[in-house]
Amino acid sequence: MFGRAPKKSNNTKYYEVLGVPKSASQDELKKAYRKAAMKNHPDKGGDPEKFKELAQAFEVLSDPEKREIYDQYGEDALKEGMGGGGASSHSPFDIFEQFFGGGGSFGGGSSRGYRQKRGEDVVHALKVSLEELYNGTTKKLSLSRNVLCQKCKGKGSKSGNSGRCNGCHGNGVRTVTRQIGPGMIQQMQHVCSECRGSGEVISEKDKCTQCKGNKVVQEKKVVEVHVEKGMLHGQKITFQGEADEAPDTVTGDIVFVLQQKEHPKFKRKSDDLFVEHTLSLTEALCGFQFALTHLDGRQLLIRSNPGEVIKPDQYKAINDEGMPHHVRPFMKGRLYIQFKVEFPDSGLLTRDQCRFLEKALPMRPTSSAAQLSDMELDECEETILTDVNMEEEMRRKQHHHHGEAYDEDDDDDAGPRVQCAQQ
Ligand SMILES: [Zn+2]
Ligand SMILES: [Zn+2]
Repeated sequence: MFGRAPKKSNNTKYYEVLGVPKSASQDELKKAYRKAAMKNHPDKGGDPEKFKELAQAFEVLSDPEKREIYDQYGEDALKEGMGGGGASSHSPFDIFEQFFGGGGSFGGGSSRGYRQKRGEDVVHALKVSLEELYNGTTKKLSLSRNVLCQKCKGKGSKSGNSGRCNGCHGNGVRTVTRQIGPGMIQQMQHVCSECRGSGEVISEKDKCTQCKGNKVVQEKKVVEVHVEKGMLHGQKITFQGEADEAPDTVTGDIVFVLQQKEHPKFKRKSDDLFVEHTLSLTEALCGFQFALTHLDGRQLLIRSNPGEVIKPDQYKAINDEGMPHHVRPFMKGRLYIQFKVEFPDSGLLTRDQCRFLEKALPMRPTSSAAQLSDMELDECEETILTDVNMEEEMRRKQHHHHGEAYDEDDDDDAGPRVQCAQQ
């Protein structure tokens, strides 16, 4: 008797998406869509999915015929092709543009359609000392950038007209067709020379006196960059939309990338600090105390425990004296101290002093040569110890080795040289 009745599916979702009651008038729909779409526009950093959803809802509800089908049968009915065409076959940008026009949406006054191109970000390296990262600082920097000419509002002309280029009919490119063979035609595109690709030409008379038709003027600007406590090397500080302005363009960002300078004393590993301290042998054996100037100028008193012996390359740590944690600067890492021990030079001690030291220091190991009997000593061969500077020695050997490698025949495999490079 009846044809297949369409399944009833959800028919309130579109109203919920736009945040309007089912009874909403066309005017209310339009207002709600405009507000939500502006907020969620991807060019303004909004969620593209949400933007699409809004456009889809609005496209259906703003069409009385589609709205009726939707109200009665829901979304699926539209998808099944009732009411002509799918639920939404248009790009969300087209829908947005169609209803609100190209111009005036975000103050850009675009005449080339709504989807503005985005200007380039300007990236600066910003050198900061470890002290500045520890304490936080504000850096004032003077930058020059292009801003839209106030006088002509970025039009470049006195009249406010941007004359369409005759050479390319405003396209910015010219298409040249030529025959390259029987029945063969080649089409080539050139950037228009009259307007240099801009698609518009402003007559000499009509050029804005302020910007001379360039639409933008240079402006000096002082920016204050707040370097917060505990920020990291490579961290970015962004000034949104502060880069060069250009007509019909969403202004890019100025981005500062922090570059932590080498510190003569402290090394940093994320929130931890490392410092090296050299002790004399006496200090290492008999105790030490010294003051360490921290990155904020405080003097830290560092001393050994009574009777404590410090070994070469031993580490000690002080809690909560490392770098402040970015975002939570009251939390700090650790400060590690690596101890170097400087031994006295030869000839410092007399025989008597040695004997005295031997009494204080642990006994020589029993396996030591000092315990050898005269008979055993007789069986040993005498040797002579010479002093060497091992680093120097290695460097010379490597150099020599390289020389040999270069002298080798090309036929030989590169084995020895590869080995060298890995050392
Ligand atoms: Zn042109
Ligand atoms: Zn101007």
